[in-house]
Amino acid sequence: MSLASDETRPLTMRRRGLRAPAKGPRYEGCDMAVQQNKVSKSRRNNRRAHDALVAANPNECPSCGELKRPHHVCPSCGQYADREVIAMADEVDLDEDAA
Ligand SMILES: [Zn+2]
Repeated sequence: MSLASDETRPLTMRRRGLRAPAKGPRYEGCDMAVQQNKVSKSRRNNRRAHDALVAANPNECPSCGELKRPHHVCPSCGQYADREVIAMADEVDLDEDAA
């Protein structure tokens, strides 16, 4: 396995410490990155320490009482800061539509 010089490796690969793809007939047309160093479980887990998803923190809409995202227009009544931002269509009766 021969290593290409640093100049031929893309910057992202250099930053991640990845080798350039191996040359030779077996690797013809293969652009897969090859890891240069093993990432230890500790290093991997430390990296993933910031990957947790955070639960949404919904607020109660002051006009309709529905839960909504803070600082966003209420999706159920179209109100924001006590004024109508989105004109809501009248409720559609599904049974009436089907007939
Ligand atoms: Zn609302």
